[in-house]
Amino acid sequence: MGEPQKTFYLETFGCQMNVHDSEKVVGTLMAQGYRQVSTVEEAGLILYNTCSIRDKAEQKVFHRLADYKKLQAQGKKFGVLGCVAQQEGEKIFERAPHVSLVCGSASYRNLPQMLVQIEAQIGAGNCRVTGLDDRETDECFETEFTARTNPHRGYITIIEGCDKFCAYCVVPFTRGKERSRTSDSVLAEACQMADQGYSEVQLLGQNVNSYKDPAGKKSFAELLAAVGEVPGIKRVRFTTSHPRDFGRDIVAAIDSVPTLCDHVHLPVQSGSTRVLDAMQRLYTRDQYLERIAWMKAAKREISITTDIIVGFPGETEADFEQTLSLLDEVEYDGIFGFKYSPRPNTPSLKFEDAIPDEEKARRLSVLQEKQREIQRRRNERHLGQIAEVMVEGRNDARGQWIGRTSQNKVLNFKAPEGLTPVLGSYVPVVTTGCFPNSLLGQMVI
Ligand code: SAM
Ligand code: SF4
Repeated sequence: MGEPQKTFYLETFGCQMNVHDSEKVVGTLMAQGYRQVSTVEEAGLILYNTCSIRDKAEQKVFHRLADYKKLQAQGKKFGVLGCVAQQEGEKIFERAPHVSLVCGSASYRNLPQMLVQIEAQIGAGNCRVTGLDDRETDECFETEFTARTNPHRGYITIIEGCDKFCAYCVVPFTRGKERSRTSDSVLAEACQMADQGYSEVQLLGQNVNSYKDPAGKKSFAELLAAVGEVPGIKRVRFTTSHPRDFGRDIVAAIDSVPTLCDHVHLPVQSGSTRVLDAMQRLYTRDQYLERIAWMKAAKREISITTDIIVGFPGETEADFEQTLSLLDEVEYDGIFGFKYSPRPNTPSLKFEDAIPDEEKARRLSVLQEKQREIQRRRNERHLGQIAEVMVEGRNDARGQWIGRTSQNKVLNFKAPEGLTPVLGSYVPVVTTGCFPNSLLGQMVI
C-alpha cells in the first residue's frame, strides 16, 4: 500500500489579489503532491489566506483558528498566509499556539521548502515554520502552477506591493514594495491562457497602473493594449487604478482596442481635498475630476466605479458633504463604501479627532442611500440597449441566465425556448428592466 495522499483545505479572505494568490498557492501545493479537499475535516493541512485591510477582516481568521483548534489533536496542521501573517508575524504563534506555518505573500515562492519542513515534523509535536520577508524583496511570485478556478476568465498579477503609503493603509507593510513583472512574461502568460481557452483576463495590482516594465519595453497603457491584441482574448479588465498615475493614454488605449473593457475602477476615497491631503493620497479633488473628464470624453461610454472611506479622523460634516457632492458630479456606476478602520503601523492611527462609530455608520448609510438612487437612475439608460454578455451561470430558481457586460454589470436574462447558452460564451442581450445593482434582459437571436 502506498503512502496516504497529503491533503489540504484553503480558505481565502479579502481582495482579488488574495484570490489569485490562492490560485497560485493551490497550484504550488498540488505540484508538491497535495490534494485539495473541500472541508476542514478531510484535510491534513488547513490554510487561511488572510486579509488585514480592515479590523473585521483581520478578526475572521482568529475566529476560524479558535473554531477548529480542537482538530489539532487529530494531527492536523494549521497555516496562516497573507496579510495578517505578514503583519502579525510570530505573534500569531502566541495567540494561536496550534498554528505551524506563518507566511506572508512575499515568501510564497519558498512554500515548497516550508512544506517539506512541516512534513518532516509531522507526528513530532507542533512545529513552527515562518516565511516573513521584509518589504525590500525584489521578487514577484511567478509560478507555472497556477490552479485557476474559472475556466473562462482568469487573473494575471502584473505588479505587486505598494509604495504609496496612504495614511490609513496596511498594504505597503503587508505586501512589500512595488515590483512589476516584465511585459514579456505578462504577455507570455496571456498567450498561454488564450491557448488554454480563456477569453477574459484581468490584470491585477494594488495599483495596476503604477506598472513599470523592468525591461523598459512597455508602459501600462501599451501593455494593456498588447494583452488586448492577443488572439483569442475577448475581454481585458484591470484593477485597481490609482488616480495619481492614471494617464490619458489609458483612455486612448480603451478607445482604440475594442477588447479592453469599458470599465475603470478609480478609488477616490474622499471628495474633500483637505481629507485627501490628510490621507496622503497625492491628488486633489480637481485633479481627480480631470481624470473623470478624460473618461467621460472617451469614444465608448466608460463605466466608472470607486472606493470611498467615510469617517477618516477629522472628517467634518462639510468634508463629508463634499464626498456626497462628488457622487452627484461623477455619477458612478458603483461604489464600495467603507467605514474608516484604524490599522496597525499606519500614520493615521495617531491622528486625533476620531469619528465615533455610530457617526461613521450614519455617514456610510447616507452615502450608500444616495448612490443607490444614482445607480437606479443611471441603469435606466441601458433599457432597450443590446449588450454582449459573457454567460457566467444559471439561476434555476428564477429560470434566468447570469451574464456580465463589458461595463462589468450583471445582466440576468432569459434565453429563447429550447436554446441553452453555453457557459463562457458571449451572447447579445437586450435590457428590458433595471435595478440599482443589476439589469434584466432577453437574449437576442
Ligand atoms: N490601491 C488601491 C487604491 O489606492 O485605490 C486600493 C487598494 S485597498 C486594498 C482597497 C480599499 O480598501 C481602498 O480603496 C480603501 O477604500 C479601503 N481601505 C484601505 N484601508 C482602509 C482602512 N484602514 N479603513 C477603511 N477602508 C480601507
Ligand atoms: Fe493602500 Fe494607498 Fe497603496 Fe492603495 S495606494 S494599496 S490605499 S497605500
